[in-house]
Amino acid sequence: MKDETKIVVAGRSPEDNFGIVNVPVYHASTVLYSSLADLEQRHKDRSEGKKAVTYGRMGTPTTWSLEEAVAELEGGYRSQVFPSGLAACAGALQAFLKTGDHLLMTDSVYGPTRAFCDKVLNRFGIETTYYDPLIGAGISELIRPNTAVVFTESPGSQTFEIQDIPAIADVAHKAGAVVMMDNTWASPLFYKPFNKGVDVSIHAGTKYIVGHSDVMMGLVTTNKEHWETLQAGANLTGQTAGPDDVYLAQRGLRTLSVRLKQHMENALIVADWLQGRDEVHSILHPALPTDPGHSLWKRDFEGASGLFSFRLNALPKPAMAAFLDNLELFGMGYSWGGYESLVIYADPSQYRTATKWDNTNPLIRLHIGLENTDDLIADLSAGFDRLNSLK
Ligand SMILES: *Cc1c(COP(=O)(O)O)cnc(C)c1O
Repeated sequence: MKDETKIVVAGRSPEDNFGIVNVPVYHASTVLYSSLADLEQRHKDRSEGKKAVTYGRMGTPTTWSLEEAVAELEGGYRSQVFPSGLAACAGALQAFLKTGDHLLMTDSVYGPTRAFCDKVLNRFGIETTYYDPLIGAGISELIRPNTAVVFTESPGSQTFEIQDIPAIADVAHKAGAVVMMDNTWASPLFYKPFNKGVDVSIHAGTKYIVGHSDVMMGLVTTNKEHWETLQAGANLTGQTAGPDDVYLAQRGLRTLSVRLKQHMENALIVADWLQGRDEVHSILHPALPTDPGHSLWKRDFEGASGLFSFRLNALPKPAMAAFLDNLELFGMGYSWGGYESLVIYADPSQYRTATKWDNTNPLIRLHIGLENTDDLIADLSAGFDRLNSLK
């Protein structure tokens, strides 16, 4: 089956639900058993990996529906919901790390994941070394005997470096380390991590899977070898997500392929237009042939989403504020992946440690939504007029 078809059919079971197309929302804490034998049988089934409802926190047909669909789409073995993308990143790391372990973390990682390493994992005696996202096979020099996890995120948060995941995974596996990837940018559709050496793939479902800026959601998918560890880690720390949110995520997933194609097309049109502007220093978008990560992107990805950055030529802050303030269609706000366009200023020089980021040319991140690109370009163009009037 092709992806567009999988998105429609995966994780659904109308035959179990009176023919109703979407999976029902099961609100559950207590689950009643008809007898001691029933109770024992269901727990036995669950321990053998079968679908058995035992208690709300351990999953229901509602959560399984989303988990199955995402695992199937990504080409993984099974998937587990978490209450947010950050909880998914933290939960994956926590499941595979113990005191005395060493973690290799990309320097371009999503900021709050970095904070989890620096402010939580360090308290448990787990040491993090940040590495240059472009390191590739050179990561072998940073591997130690106690390196247990190599964490990747491609493209990098805010700065969009494409990592050579197969090369990194090859080195990590030879050293016995688990390879994790935050695959949120590409969604389960545009990057297939499990045939590139990733063991554990993480999504902020909050972004494109939900797709409507109204739900927090996380998912972790693993290959067969790493499933038990991940699931145990999630269960032992009480991870789950609310059924209404899970329902909205599986509903959003059904249109992911059409949305993402449009986000990609719109983003490329806007990026192209920005490239011709005098105010713009450079564009950070791996699907542009001029981007340093383009060849790796072309080799490994099936598409590009609607999130990219550009850098302005050096300018006074009030001129940048004049550009950002009063945009009509680009809301200023965190997160992304909904149907609407967003803009945010970011300064990676504030938190990088393994690599240096020069903030002379300020970085603006755009999420390109599903609006007509003529309107988006007109909005940005008016912003540049305001910028130029203050330069
Ligand atoms: C947003 C994001 C997260 C965190 O997701 P939340 O649902 O906001 O907690 C993690 N990783 C990446 C790459 C993200 O963009």
